[in-house]
Amino acid sequence: MRNLGYQRCILCRQRPPIKNSHVIPKFVFKWMVETGGTKFLRNAGSPNKRVQDGLKAPLLCKTCERETSVFENEFSRDIFIPSIGDGELPKNFKRSTYQFVASVHHRIQTYYVRNSDKLDELTRHERKALLHSIAEIRGYLSGQRYSVSPQKLYLIPFGLGVPNNLQDMPSNWHRYIRRHTEMDLIHSEGGSIFGSYFKIGPWLSFCLIRNNGQPWYGGEVFPTSSKITNKRAIFPPTLHEFMIDRAELAKSATETISDRQQAVINKAVSEADFSGKSKPMLDAIAEDVRVFGNAAFRRTPKTS
Ligand SMILES: [Zn+2]
Repeated sequence: MRNLGYQRCILCRQRPPIKNSHVIPKFVFKWMVETGGTKFLRNAGSPNKRVQDGLKAPLLCKTCERETSVFENEFSRDIFIPSIGDGELPKNFKRSTYQFVASVHHRIQTYYVRNSDKLDELTRHERKALLHSIAEIRGYLSGQRYSVSPQKLYLIPFGLGVPNNLQDMPSNWHRYIRRHTEMDLIHSEGGSIFGSYFKIGPWLSFCLIRNNGQPWYGGEVFPTSSKITNKRAIFPPTLHEFMIDRAELAKSATETISDRQQAVINKAVSEADFSGKSKPMLDAIAEDVRVFGNAAFRRTPKTS
């Protein structure tokens, strides 16, 4: 994947961007590193190294980075950290939550629009829609628009609480829904849904650029304040299937590692320190082992 980034900041378009602007905010990777047990385990949960270290590209200038960090810090402090620890979640998202979600989707979309491999997967119509979306989100972030409309933003605490149906789930399910971090552009085969997606630990977010499919109830974030929705009340079945596919994808990525690497990982797991901050990772592993038994760590035998 090639990505040359930008000559001018994607937000103010005035100053040159810094080289190492994070696409997904840095605090997420800090959390993964601090709570992952060992570096091998972190890789086992999220093997794509670039994502692991936090994907960076020339996107925002220093000034815009600083302004963005204000609502990033607020989200991290008020929502993210309490949600993964023992803290109490607020009942509502704030204005800064909407800004935060909009800003991450803006970075993801502008990042992918410079990625030729990614663009090849899109129809001409989708590419055009993506450019419109980027311009409209930028308009909101730079104070010229009230919202990112017609795009809709969603933020869903998918990996919090206990999932109710574990039948046919991939054996890395708990680790995936609670810990995994990733981003992508999504589009349904029939072309009814198109947008961007990110997952930071237990939180899922979508920016729907187009949705001619099933309407999504709940989970939407609004420019002023919005309720944090109970995930069970809102789950469209297609979203559930999408998440299972993503977990399978993450699992098969970890299965490409060699036997030698696997042996190193096994050793690291047995020697890992899971006290204190790394306990959430241990809990997720323990839950996978409890529900899926040995399959939680077994690689699928190669069929060819
Ligand atoms: Zn700027």
